[in-house]
Amino acid sequence: MITIDGSQGEGGGQIVRSSLALSLVSQQPLTLCNIRARRSRPGLMRQHLTAVRAAAEISGAAVHGAEIGSRQLSFQPGEVRCGSYHFRIDSAGSTTLVLQTVLPALMLAGGESTLVLEGGTHNPWAPPYDFLARVYLPLLARLGPRVEPRLERHGFYPAGGGRFSVTIHPVRELGRLEMKERGDVRSQHVHAVVAKLPRHIAERECREIAKLSGWDRRCFHVEELDDSPGPGNVVMIGIESERASELCTAFGQKGVRAEQVAEQAWREAHRFLEADVPVGEHLADQLLLPLGIGAWQGAGGGVFRTLPLSQHALTHIAVLQQFLNVRIETSEESDTAVTVRVG
Ligand code: ATP
Repeated sequence: MITIDGSQGEGGGQIVRSSLALSLVSQQPLTLCNIRARRSRPGLMRQHLTAVRAAAEISGAAVHGAEIGSRQLSFQPGEVRCGSYHFRIDSAGSTTLVLQTVLPALMLAGGESTLVLEGGTHNPWAPPYDFLARVYLPLLARLGPRVEPRLERHGFYPAGGGRFSVTIHPVRELGRLEMKERGDVRSQHVHAVVAKLPRHIAERECREIAKLSGWDRRCFHVEELDDSPGPGNVVMIGIESERASELCTAFGQKGVRAEQVAEQAWREAHRFLEADVPVGEHLADQLLLPLGIGAWQGAGGGVFRTLPLSQHALTHIAVLQQFLNVRIETSEESDTAVTVRVG
């Protein structure tokens, strides 16, 4: 039995999701205490509860404390079963974060799985579907598992109601990843999207990023969606380099001007471009889990260069080390670059 303190470091939802993922993969029973202690509304929220239930469903786990607001959870996993699953969050809670809870176990399961996820697909403070499809999953494929995503309906915060599915082709063991250099930037594209909101919001976002970046107008693309149950606006800056992809996003909010939203996305993209690293801040955080699991299995792990690590990533490292007892070393090269070695 392993006990994880949910108040350590960042003290948020990621400790819950990663602990569940690691409990499933390593088949170690888990007790989580002080869940999301550093959040203004601590305990399990709907999205985290869906993650707990999803983890329980794929493994027939015995669970205590799976309730809204619960600050303590015990989770005893059974054997992970591949198959067809449907997970639904009755709010705009992030579906991509629910996927990331069960994906590590299912990408190492005995056969293919198909998952349908409903809820938010494009949420602030979580990987948007496009980040998953264009940045995270292609990188995961380099470790072995192939995961094919299909977006069926966008779901923005706060209405939610989005839907996507994935087919997971598993492997027995994860391979190594080395990402030290980014290589030359080959292309950049800006995709500004509105649902049930005026088109000029997306046009202004593109204009602002064009002004800040100086990029050719062919890089910009405005889209008006008609599939989303609620309103929403997201601007995404994609950067394709020789050996890496990155997607920086910002979301429209009531009371925030389109130009400010655009500037927020550009700041992140500019920081990434200036640092000349292959792995961005969010990807670093999310890569740690499959690399840690690969190192624990034996043949995986790896090394990557990234921006200075966020509190999220540092907390993630601490949880991985408590669970898997793998070596994770970080060395600061400069104010803008860090090398992370896993295993
Ligand atoms: P809490 O509700 O406790 O704040 P949470 O469940 O919302 O927690 P966090 O602990 O904040 O989750 O973790 C959010 C995850 O989403 C992190 O892995 C982070 O890297 C990722 N993430 C956040 N924003 C983006 C983004 N713009 N692009 C890609 N990934 C992102």
